Amino acid sequence: LIINDASISRIDSQLVDDFKRKPQSRHYQDMLKFRRDLPAYNKMKEIVDIVRSNQVTVISGETGCGKSTQIPQFLLDDWLLNRQNDHVEIICTQPRKISAIGVAERVANERAERIGESVGYQIRLETRSSAKTRLMFCTTGILLRRLEGDPKLSSVSHVIVDEVHERSAESDFLLLVLRDLLQIRSDLKILLMSATLNSALFTQYYPGAPVIEIPGRTFPVDQIFLEDAVEMSRYILEEYSASAKKISKSQSRELEIVMDAEDMDNLPIKGIKHPMPRDPDEILPLKQLFHRYREYDRETCKTMFLMDAEKIDYSLVEHVLNYIVEGDHNYPKKGSILVFLPGLGEILSMQEQLMGNPIFAERNGKFVIVPLHSTLTNEEQALVFKKMRPGVRKVVLSTNIAETSITIDDCVFVVDCGKMKEKGFDVNKNMESLETVWVSRANADQRRGRAGRVMPGVCFHLFSRQRYDMVLSAQPVPEICRIPLEQLILRIKMLPALASKDLFHVIRGLIEPPAEDNITSAVDRLRHAGALDEFCNLTPLGKHLASLPVDVRVGKLILFGAMFSALDSALTIAACLSYKTPFNAPLNKREEAAKKKQQFVRGWSDHLTTLQAYKCWQAAFNKQGFRGAQNFAHDNFLSNKTLLTLADIKIQFLELLMDIGFVPGDIRISRRKNTQDRILEATGRELNAHGENQKLLSAILCAALYPNIVKVYTPDRQFSASISGAIPAPLKADSLVFKTKSDGDVLLHPSSVNYEVTDYPSPYLVYQEKVKTAKVFIRDCTMVPILPLVLFSAGALKVELNCGEFLVSIDDGWIIFNVSSNKVRF
Ligand code: ADP
Repeated sequence: LIINDASISRIDSQLVDDFKRKPQSRHYQDMLKFRRDLPAYNKMKEIVDIVRSNQVTVISGETGCGKSTQIPQFLLDDWLLNRQNDHVEIICTQPRKISAIGVAERVANERAERIGESVGYQIRLETRSSAKTRLMFCTTGILLRRLEGDPKLSSVSHVIVDEVHERSAESDFLLLVLRDLLQIRSDLKILLMSATLNSALFTQYYPGAPVIEIPGRTFPVDQIFLEDAVEMSRYILEEYSASAKKISKSQSRELEIVMDAEDMDNLPIKGIKHPMPRDPDEILPLKQLFHRYREYDRETCKTMFLMDAEKIDYSLVEHVLNYIVEGDHNYPKKGSILVFLPGLGEILSMQEQLMGNPIFAERNGKFVIVPLHSTLTNEEQALVFKKMRPGVRKVVLSTNIAETSITIDDCVFVVDCGKMKEKGFDVNKNMESLETVWVSRANADQRRGRAGRVMPGVCFHLFSRQRYDMVLSAQPVPEICRIPLEQLILRIKMLPALASKDLFHVIRGLIEPPAEDNITSAVDRLRHAGALDEFCNLTPLGKHLASLPVDVRVGKLILFGAMFSALDSALTIAACLSYKTPFNAPLNKREEAAKKKQQFVRGWSDHLTTLQAYKCWQAAFNKQGFRGAQNFAHDNFLSNKTLLTLADIKIQFLELLMDIGFVPGDIRISRRKNTQDRILEATGRELNAHGENQKLLSAILCAALYPNIVKVYTPDRQFSASISGAIPAPLKADSLVFKTKSDGDVLLHPSSVNYEVTDYPSPYLVYQEKVKTAKVFIRDCTMVPILPLVLFSAGALKVELNCGEFLVSIDDGWIIFNVSSNKVRF
């Protein structure tokens, strides 16, 4: 499609004509009535004027005031009404796919248009736009990608960065890139939109940027903490004590000690086990909690303690919900209830539990349970906004997506379990991980605010006031300071404007830069992975890895899997690597579980063993459907839930590969089909022709996990025994020594299938994670033959000696590899 200036101008005129005709549409008028009531609407003129006369504008206002849906339209309408000969192309970034699609569809609907006309969206693998599109919603990642090929964003007139307060690593990075771009694009307009009044940070970053504050329309919200809730209603406490897990004897004894202590500041903290947290910062508020409840009987005191504990207790959530709808109180008996839970898993469990509750069950017809998280389809998301029949109330179970991104208009009650999922860094795996953590006070306050949208509301925090005051941090830590920086560095290297600059200097320019150590270690890891060369430039492999938004090791595994036609197997292993192993080992049935695991053992490898288990489960699925797979998992001590998640992650990885053209893009993945069919259909035969080749798979694993290598040594004892003529006693694995470069001798974790092995065909093992407790253990390892180790260790130092011999650094030694004879010498 060739679009020249003449055709742009023709389309522009057409857009203006369309716009002039809009008032004739009944739907447009209805929508306009709604829009005029939004607080943002009153600020239209001010916003348009300020944006015209400034390069950067910061706009903040309560969630739901109309920032995302209205402000981009103000700019578009202004252009349509007052069009000079200029061109307009507005890009509005959203932190998640679901919001990019949701806002775009809403805006198109408000304009009485179909999506893809003047309003469009773009997310990974899906674009809805046309030559007419002038307002484009996209994920932050998509705009960053676009900047790689179009560093000046030549045709773009406005960039709106929405939800900047979320401080995602991508949006922080985008702010940095845009700040540089402003220097060369004096005509470019930038708007930052934020839901909180924390705008000072952004105006410091873009000095001189004016701030427009949109006043909210909020009502007061009662803030109720755990102890207040119990005081208000002994019902909650009694119900909880009746249904909650009973306190174990040892817990009870520990709690008695705490309660009996005369002096609360000198508690015998040592020796107190779970549920007493060990961190002194955690102890103090709990001591105070006890102090407060000393007036109650001992059992109450203990129960309170359990309620305020680390784990989310669904029964507590349920009792609070019961209390809200049926309890003896003066709060309204109408309005939606919004429950904040950490993640999808918790939401599904809670949903199931409420289905079984006679008050909330569907057949009762009084409540509709609505799950809300980032992987909903559009139709599912529509339920959140749907108006209910009179007498029917919504109970929305949500992740922190409802904190600032999505508004439930008639919400009156909030139940805040105080937890959220957060990306963090797993030191053992040396990888990004998703952890459940306490929210910050800012999150808790934002959650509370969601209750006062239409009338005064109530927020139940399911933790104590002391925890709020003394344990929760004031603000969440920005993502960029929590995660490994490989992805950021690769991204920087892909941007023409930044690639040649000093990396450390560039990163220091972020709004809140991460620690220098994090940068250094990420550069090291990228060099070892073969993604950066010694001058910190991208290698060809690095370029491909940069286009995959996953951990570099996972990225290598799936790239190599695709190249060597072992894709399905590589995807399974990669999914385990980035999530977790499906093997269960219940404490009381360890031996039985270990025996079952033995049948899957392959190739001196935990990874290939897991792969084998997955394949058998998949076969059971194909043969006997969901139930069959579930039974198979149960009988073999595998987690069915984990296996299903792994299947889903495989598809996500496959889509990434399709996106960069590494596998044919015409593979159709039908989301309606069951999980297993999707996988089989997706990988086909030729893509996995070598998926059974264990040597190949261990070589690919070596490529992915290098430099995590241990060398197996036989202790001297054995030699002395042989010299003296005695027959050496068979060695046990724990008498072998496993040496690593940085940590010296390490131990194999007993959960590894290699734990009992005494005789390795090759003395090298590549491992996934190193756990440091009193001793250092390595977990999940695979034996690698020497030749693949030499050839696939991308980041190893390789020096060419004469006559086709290479000197290769392997862990703590050297190997000489002769190319012509394929021989290896130590
Ligand atoms: P903000 O960006 O300030 O949080 P939005 O512009 O997203 O606010 O939303 C403004 C209002 O528009 C919301 O309060 C809600 O009432 C309504 N709204 C937004 N999206 C939808 C939708 N998809 N369906 C129905 N109503 C919506």
